[in-house]
Amino acid sequence: SVVSRFAPSPTGYLHVGGARTALYAWLVARAAGGKFVLRIEDTDRERSTQAAIDAIFEGMQWLGLTWDEEPIYQTRRFDRYKELIDQLLAEGKAYKCYCSHERLEKMREEQMAAGVKPRYDGKCRDQAEQEGQPYVIRFRNPQEGSVVFDDHIRGRIEIANKELDDLIIARTDGTPTYNFCVVVDDWDMGITHVVRGEDHINNTPRQINILQALGAPIPEYAHVSMILGDDGKKLSKRHGAVSVTEYRDNGYLPEAMINYLVRLGWSHGDQEIFSRDELIQIFKLSDINKAASAFNTEKLNWLNQHYMKTLPAEQVAAELAWHFARIGVATEDGPALVEVVKLQADRVKTLKEMAEISRYFYEPVTEFEEQAAKKHLRPVAKDALQDVRDRFAALSNWSAETIHQAIQDTCAALDIGMGKVGMPLRVAATGGGNSPSLDVTLALIPRHTVVERIDLALE
Ligand code: GLU
Repeated sequence: SVVSRFAPSPTGYLHVGGARTALYAWLVARAAGGKFVLRIEDTDRERSTQAAIDAIFEGMQWLGLTWDEEPIYQTRRFDRYKELIDQLLAEGKAYKCYCSHERLEKMREEQMAAGVKPRYDGKCRDQAEQEGQPYVIRFRNPQEGSVVFDDHIRGRIEIANKELDDLIIARTDGTPTYNFCVVVDDWDMGITHVVRGEDHINNTPRQINILQALGAPIPEYAHVSMILGDDGKKLSKRHGAVSVTEYRDNGYLPEAMINYLVRLGWSHGDQEIFSRDELIQIFKLSDINKAASAFNTEKLNWLNQHYMKTLPAEQVAAELAWHFARIGVATEDGPALVEVVKLQADRVKTLKEMAEISRYFYEPVTEFEEQAAKKHLRPVAKDALQDVRDRFAALSNWSAETIHQAIQDTCAALDIGMGKVGMPLRVAATGGGNSPSLDVTLALIPRHTVVERIDLALE
């Protein structure tokens, strides 16, 4: 059965490109009812950090990309790598190379000067054991024939073995090198589907040769194209947020992010909206685009708004609570968050904005936005405000309907248009000139609070 994996190097946060790769790998497993596993490629001890590992887990969890087993850490598997290196040595499938750095450098320079791709010349392939001399261990790559694999995205790929180097699999200090660890892990973890960035495509034929030498089955491969910024350059920090948790912090819903990520290079007819369950039903690696895809913040915003409006309000409210907490607004006293979601969802693009513009439901209004106050709290507006304030104070029941009626009564009594009451009232009750429909908005604020705010505006 299908086993796919995500194998991040924990040298930084989980970025958009990595998250999309993880999503595709996750979908491969979920679509097949198989397993999805995580491998932490932490052999670069200088650059790998626990903070990065935590950030990767956090990003995956936020996106709901659940994994099925305890993650594997490469740094805990050195004995296993060593065991297999020794085995390849004993079988003559790997050999010790005693060539000095100087010799290799000179060879490289000569090859470059002659216009050929630098490649180890195989001097030590049949070298006898040299007692006490430092050495690296090289894989004895086949010299004849070629490596062929059918990439799910890129189609059939064939590389002649004579193009491939005798790869170093263990350094002078005995530590295994990157490609060797990957091969052993993919084998031991029973990986059937390798989904990864196209930057690894050159490693694949080398890895296949080593797998073959070990007698391991060859997984299927899918190399995903890169993501570009709106300027056509590889997506990077220059383009704004790149870490997945930054998108969370900026107010995006995981559902929107998943929908957005999956469409970066994958399509299904001209459909745009996909739920997670639907993706699991229809996702196919072969539908992934070979061309690079461009990041488009407007589309992400559009999707985010779609999900804010269409997901169950309780679910959106739970995320909104997190954003209120983040900006230090307590929401225990005040309207239920679901009400705020229903009221504000089509007025904002993100939950962060939603929390920002909804402060007046939970925090006192102590001052009024300067521009709005200048425009709407002029002396001429005060009669209208005073009138509606008194009507509010006298209402026996505080609801959108009675509020609406009171406002209309003020208009009629003073013979003025709706806007002449509405705008001053809006500024007084919410502190600014921007809020949803007044009657429903005010109904979510206690009557005495509204009256107090009007009094403040009348001062
Ligand atoms: N650790 C590699 C990376 O983060 C992925 C290697 C692989 O998927 O084989 O790019």
